[in-house]
Amino acid sequence: MRFSRLRLNGFKSFVDPTDLVIADGLTGVVGPNGCGKSNLLEALRWVMGENRPTAMRGGGMEDVIFAGASSRPARNFAEVTLALDNADRTAPAAFNDADALDVVRRITRDAGSAYKLNGRDVRARDVQMLFADASTGAHSPALVRQGQISELINAKPQKRRRILEEAAGISGLYQRRHEAELKLNATEGNLTRVDDVVEQLATQLASLARQARQAARYREIGTQLRHAEGLLLYRRWREAEDARAAADATLRTRLTEAAAAERVAAGSD
Ligand code: ATP
Repeated sequence: MRFSRLRLNGFKSFVDPTDLVIADGLTGVVGPNGCGKSNLLEALRWVMGENRPTAMRGGGMEDVIFAGASSRPARNFAEVTLALDNADRTAPAAFNDADALDVVRRITRDAGSAYKLNGRDVRARDVQMLFADASTGAHSPALVRQGQISELINAKPQKRRRILEEAAGISGLYQRRHEAELKLNATEGNLTRVDDVVEQLATQLASLARQARQAARYREIGTQLRHAEGLLLYRRWREAEDARAAADATLRTRLTEAAAAERVAAGSD
């Protein structure tokens, strides 16, 4: 995978569409002060996903849009396209289905940045990952800006290590490790939340089990109560029935006695 062309449109001093052909053997860009050499390098970093306005020597990211000159009005957007030659098919698997890859980043005033890869909308992270897997990117130490050599010579070993890592082609792995660590941390957070929820549910479960026991006891007592009420009613009915039978018998006796008394009275007349 090789850089083959950089196209700038409305980016900093490159107000008109400008193509920089990156052919074999191109090792540097020379020109008078202020002609835009650093802007070229910044465009390269920017299209690869640079997100710090300070790295673009600006206060905000929209400062990369052509700000106007005495003879020309300001532009409303800036666009940088980086063409990659992928004839050797060494691009990361997700993007390895074409011989040429066009990575486009466009920033519009008040609307922010958007990325496209071969015309398809992609996320900033996809573009950053594409370059990280190819061992380059916006923060690649291979992109040397003014004053950076002396900075590197005086740099701490940790910073120098990145150059070696990039040479070994493991920058992508580092980025993935970082992402994996973030995911791991998020998962750990989720696990803690799950533990809390499990604890809450266990408390609820204990209270529900107590309520269930109470409900079962209530049902059992209700059945016993109905049974006892049945027995009571039966007993009352039985007593009333016995009293009625006794009263019946007494009535019959009295009637017999009354009939006998009537007969006696009728005989004595
Ligand atoms: P030097 O050799 O002095 O470092 P250089 O060749 O690297 O210079 P750059 O710093 O890339 O030049 O370009 C600076 C030029 O870009 C300045 O003329 C500046 O006015 C112009 N410039 C930067 N940002 C913008 C912008 N947003 N709109 C218009 N012009 C801009």
